[in-house]
Amino acid sequence: MNDSSAASPDDPPEISSANAVNSTLSGWGNYPKVNCTVHFQRQVDALRNLLVEGDVMSSIPRGLGRSYGDSSVNQDGVLVQTPRNRLLALDEKTGCLTCEAGVSLEEVIQCVLPKGWFLPTTPGTKFVTIGGAIAADVHGKNHHRDGTWGQHVKRLSLMVADGTIMECSAHQNSDVFWATVGGMGLTGIVLEATIQLMRVPSAYVEVTQRRASNMFEAFDLFLETDEQYKYSVAWIDCLSSRNKLGRSVLLSGNDAEVTSLKPKQAKSPWKLPAKRAKSVPFEFPGLAMNQLAIRAFNGLYYRKHGNRQMLMDFDSYFYPLDSINHWNRIYGKRGFVQYQALFPRDCSREAMVKLLQIISKSGQASFLAVLKSSGPANPGMLSYLFDGHTLALDFPFRGEKTIRLCHQLDQIMLEFGGRVYLAKDALIGADTFAAMYPRLDEFKQLKHRLDPLTKFRSCQSDRVGITEPR
Ligand SMILES: Cc1cc2nc3c(=O)[nH]c(=O)nc-3n(C[C@H](O)[C@H](O)[C@H](O)COP(=O)(O)OP(=O)(O)OC[C@H]3O[C@@H](n4cnc5c(N)ncnc54)[C@H](O)[C@@H]3O)c2cc1C
Repeated sequence: MNDSSAASPDDPPEISSANAVNSTLSGWGNYPKVNCTVHFQRQVDALRNLLVEGDVMSSIPRGLGRSYGDSSVNQDGVLVQTPRNRLLALDEKTGCLTCEAGVSLEEVIQCVLPKGWFLPTTPGTKFVTIGGAIAADVHGKNHHRDGTWGQHVKRLSLMVADGTIMECSAHQNSDVFWATVGGMGLTGIVLEATIQLMRVPSAYVEVTQRRASNMFEAFDLFLETDEQYKYSVAWIDCLSSRNKLGRSVLLSGNDAEVTSLKPKQAKSPWKLPAKRAKSVPFEFPGLAMNQLAIRAFNGLYYRKHGNRQMLMDFDSYFYPLDSINHWNRIYGKRGFVQYQALFPRDCSREAMVKLLQIISKSGQASFLAVLKSSGPANPGMLSYLFDGHTLALDFPFRGEKTIRLCHQLDQIMLEFGGRVYLAKDALIGADTFAAMYPRLDEFKQLKHRLDPLTKFRSCQSDRVGITEPR
């Protein structure tokens, strides 16, 4: 497990002081790249000294750098939390896990799955830290049933700007708790947390795979099956047009009971089949991701995935992209941006059709896009999801052309009351962000109370106007 979004091997970091290096950092999309002073402090006292007495003007915590844009990047200081990676306690009866915030979801799974527990919800990669999961209030394929990550955090400890450690939960310092959940590292450093895990009968999902010949059919399938299935996700071909616009493959699933497993699997139901990840060895030339290649891939994917029932292990169902290390390199040196759109349920069909029409016309291809259903919002001030549907799109970064396209998509979002996800965003402007997040002022007031000198900021928080640009 490594932070592969950090400086490339041909760009050796320059040591500036004890436990600090100067390095070029980005998020998973490799855009933008920013020169930062990066600190690796695992001791709480050392972190406090850095914040209170150090000469660091401002900083932002960082996990495994799996947010796509500039959420965990700040030229003044980046506080890498992965050295703080101890699992502290697991109550095997209740499924309460306490650990340091630098522990990755992969490490949690390795520890708890053999005992019949799994993550309460999971993003599409397990190379995410507990701190990153809380800060982005991540969601998975079961949001319509189980909500976001933050709703399963029983408590957390937070180091705020003056070095004080605050104990927070939905009942204690609850305003700080709900600002930290989804607060993108801007309230302070999550040091450790207690998470309520979820019991699972096995490490497998019983999956029903169905093809929808266009976007409308895909929505109907979601509607029919949201009640019936715990997990659901659809892969959409967003280069198809006219009556095939939004054709997709829907994968709905429930946890597989031991009785559904093959005899060999049933002997150790929580054991994941061993797999060796493949790797993309270098950044592809930018041309590799042209529209023709993406169209051919999307078409092939759709044709290969017919209607059927199957058993999938957790790795294959939840983390298909993790089987290829460094897959972000296929977008080349200029990187890519992810645009995740969320629309209210009552207008999401109409809005997404408009979105797809613009993309299809723009000639800027997105690899298979991901469509998910979402349930009610939680009290997180900057938490992303509310009741509706989300569509996540990847665009190879082509400078002004991509920026213009994303701003065009922003207009559709504003027209339909939608919003973008900070964990994926690299481009949105301050006015658009303010229009999308009505509780922004409340968050800013709380941040000012905790952090009057703006010690915590990121390139993203300056860009979207959560903090005043320096
Ligand atoms: C392939 C892929 C699939 C994904 N799928 C999903 C998905 O399905 N659903 C979803 O919700 N997200 C998804 N994501 C996004 C990802 O889950 C989030 O961006 C997550 O926050 C990344 O965690 P990280 O540890 O890499 O943190 P980073 O990317 O390093 O940081 C993310 C944010 O967390 C803050 N942060 C990190 N550690 C701490 C800490 N200890 N204290 C306070 N703040 C902290 C940072 O300041 C930053 O604002 C996906 C990402 C990838 C690459």
